[in-house]
Amino acid sequence: MIASEDRLVFVGTSDIAGILRGKSFPAADWEKRLQRGVGWTPTNVQITCFDTISESPFGSFGDLALVPDPDTRITLKDGDDVFDFALGDIRSLEGEPWAFCTRSLARRSLEELHQASGARLLSAFEHEFQIKDMPPRPGDGFGLKGFRDARNWSGAFLASLAQTSCQPDTFMKEYGPSQYEITIKPTLGIVTPDNAAILRLLADDVIRRHGASPSFSPILDPDSVGNGVHIHFSFVDDDGAPLTYDPKAPHGMSRLTRHFIGGILHHLDQILAILAPSEISYLRLTPHRWSAAFNNLGYRDREAAVRICPVSTQDEEAVARQYNFEVRAIDAAASPHLAFAALLFAGTQGVKDQIEPPAPVNEDLSLLSASELAAKGFKRLPQTLDEALGKLGGSKAVRQWFGDEFVDLYLAHKRGEMAQLAGLGWPEKCSRYKEVY
Ligand code: GLU
Ligand code: MG
Repeated sequence: MIASEDRLVFVGTSDIAGILRGKSFPAADWEKRLQRGVGWTPTNVQITCFDTISESPFGSFGDLALVPDPDTRITLKDGDDVFDFALGDIRSLEGEPWAFCTRSLARRSLEELHQASGARLLSAFEHEFQIKDMPPRPGDGFGLKGFRDARNWSGAFLASLAQTSCQPDTFMKEYGPSQYEITIKPTLGIVTPDNAAILRLLADDVIRRHGASPSFSPILDPDSVGNGVHIHFSFVDDDGAPLTYDPKAPHGMSRLTRHFIGGILHHLDQILAILAPSEISYLRLTPHRWSAAFNNLGYRDREAAVRICPVSTQDEEAVARQYNFEVRAIDAAASPHLAFAALLFAGTQGVKDQIEPPAPVNEDLSLLSASELAAKGFKRLPQTLDEALGKLGGSKAVRQWFGDEFVDLYLAHKRGEMAQLAGLGWPEKCSRYKEVY
């Protein structure tokens, strides 16, 4: 067994592609590395999910530091194997947050929400994933058979999560073939996107060690179900009192909730290229897949981009704590930190501009013409990544939140990723993403 001071600690950044990249150092140097970090290269931000490098404004120039955050350190023991890991922030050599660090952007979005509203965010990611290359098993949608098929890895996976800030809430066999879902308990602030990164890395590490191979890719088979990421949102004040619910308001939405949702739905087409950032993401975002095809608000409607979720109590005080809404137009090709930041910036803009969301509807929007949709205040969301990138690049609001340099870099990153898929059919494109996410 390696002495604990000789053990390697990996410090990682969850980058634009939602991939954890980083470096390791001996655990004995932990205190030193907390100050100094490890050296990092600006152009790394343009490494795509296929490991190619998209056009970079930095070329071979520049130096940065990837500095571990002690609050994120995880040390997991499994027999002789010790997995020691921390998330980090990318800083300039002078110690300033780097404009392209996804975690720093997520932190800034939280500060802006707090400044605009006095609210802190209490939120949670919900993930769906499929086990690759598992033979079809009829009759296991939400089934006990499918749940038991996971017994070789599910216990170890959930036990590993339980040792981190990412505390499991529920686990189940989802509807799709070899598809599972895991929900996590809500957490404050930056811990939530950190938890999404931790969940994906432990899924890969622990489930694979137990002989199965998970994929969180948005869709594995163009003709089958997608793997969604849903983010649940609620607000508390500085003392922890809930701010999301108003018993007297329509559908229980407090003013803050209403305007925050209004801001998300108003800007959804402009931030979609960050939330659903692969070409195949748009196979999932089609009507009748229980994902999100329109910028609509649903009251307990699983086809809505934003859904007000049910509560399991009648007690008013408990309702106020449980009450939350989820955004469903997200997938795991997205960086959890960037998706989180984009939604917070959009929601906070809604709070500042007092944007009203469209009223929840209980109808199949896919049956309406474009003019009927427009009359009700709805839009079909972009139907390709190319269209979504066009909306992102043309959005003054997104450029104001993230900065022009970031938006232009993101567009170049994604264009480089798309070039890798040129000429491939949908099944081949799905196969490429299946192996990455
Ligand atoms: N698989 C659906 C999605 O892609 C979600 C199904 C559900 O949990 O409601 O978002
Ligand atoms: Mg689900």
